[in-house]
Amino acid sequence: MQTNFSLAQLADPDIAESEKILRACVHCGFCTATCPTYVLLGDELDSPRGRIYLIKDMLENDRPASARLVKHIDRCLSCLSCMTTCPSGVHYMHLVDHARVRIEETYERPFLDRWFRAILAFVLPYPGRFRLALMAAWFARPLAGLFPGRLGAMLGLAPARVPTPSKVDRAQVFPAEGRRRARAALLNGGAQQVLAPQINEATIRLLNRHGVEVVVARGSGCCGALTHHLGKEAASRDWVKANVAAWTREIEGPGLDAIVINASGCGTVVKDYGFMLRNEPDWADRAARVSERAKDISEFMSDLGLMAPARPTGLAVAYHAACSLQHGQQVRMQPKALLAAAGFTVRDVPDGHLCCGSAGTYNILQPAIAKRLRDRKIETIERVAPQAVATGNIGCLMQIAGGTDLPVVHTVELLDWATGGPLPKALEAAGLSAADAPTKAAQAAW
Ligand code: SF4
Ligand code: SF4
Repeated sequence: MQTNFSLAQLADPDIAESEKILRACVHCGFCTATCPTYVLLGDELDSPRGRIYLIKDMLENDRPASARLVKHIDRCLSCLSCMTTCPSGVHYMHLVDHARVRIEETYERPFLDRWFRAILAFVLPYPGRFRLALMAAWFARPLAGLFPGRLGAMLGLAPARVPTPSKVDRAQVFPAEGRRRARAALLNGGAQQVLAPQINEATIRLLNRHGVEVVVARGSGCCGALTHHLGKEAASRDWVKANVAAWTREIEGPGLDAIVINASGCGTVVKDYGFMLRNEPDWADRAARVSERAKDISEFMSDLGLMAPARPTGLAVAYHAACSLQHGQQVRMQPKALLAAAGFTVRDVPDGHLCCGSAGTYNILQPAIAKRLRDRKIETIERVAPQAVATGNIGCLMQIAGGTDLPVVHTVELLDWATGGPLPKALEAAGLSAADAPTKAAQAAW
């Protein structure tokens, strides 16, 4: 695509980066077919190509963001399906991230929208505040249907029970069982540790059992993704730098073979820390070292090799590929291969490249589109008649669980159970155990 930036504009490293991305796009439109918002809404401006044109126009002409551009960028899920499809390697993620920062800087949102976003940025990354908010939401939950739009969506997403905090989510070291094979930091995250503390617990057990010493590093916390996707760059960078500093202390001290992330939405951002801080000389090298070591738990376990299952499992599991894992990190086969190696019968979900509508805070900010995507996802999941659903991202887990009676679990909970850990709570609540695995004849008939 031809661009028309002045030399003065290109002196800004962010503009220079976006110009490079814009020039790579050849307008072919292949990306439209796999874009969930285009598939649903059929508007070119709700496709990657349409959004690229809007961003180009804003940046080239040095214009403040218009209401029209904001509407269509806000509808983008940042699912990155377009990046998987694009034959020209257009880095849409960096382009839309730049656009979101520009929107935040130049566009005055209506008061309620501003207020809502400010509340999300104030609450979600902080486990203590988030827990209190969930408790308050619990009281208002029965009234969710009375509130239209975002407030109703937010109340509807609040879990029926707020789990008690887990002891594993404090800074500490969990020693490896037997010979130590590796040392890894675990990003224990913000929202996930509140909503589903069993995920970090299962991750630590699984890693320890495979000879990995796990450290929850002092000073690490939210990955910064939530504020990053809201365009709140200063807040996001504070989180990023806190994590880079905490993990650098570990890298330069006892050493780290990997930084393991079990929420793929966070993993995509941690892998991008090197890019995010590339223009800050005091941070660039350290951030790049952190990104080099960042691995999704499924990647790390695949490299390590899963031990033989300690018990028969065999349940039929639909694997829901989180967009941040399959498109953001291009990690596709490892989770399914691990589940199969652990003895589960893995069933692929049709149209698995399409988002479930969770996308960070998207299901709160764009509840109508998010609900349509969720309903569509659940319909495709139920078509493969699974006994449970596995996924690698807390956002997807909560989104899907909110619309189906099937138990929805994190992939690590299943791997932990298969290799000697406890039965995942969601399976227990559904009355499932290994004894319920389909027989060979049933599986063959399916
Ligand atoms: S990130 Fe997803 S929703 Fe946004 S343009 Fe790309 S495919 Fe469409
Ligand atoms: S597929 Fe890639 S090159 Fe083609 S229009 Fe989409 S972003 Fe541009």
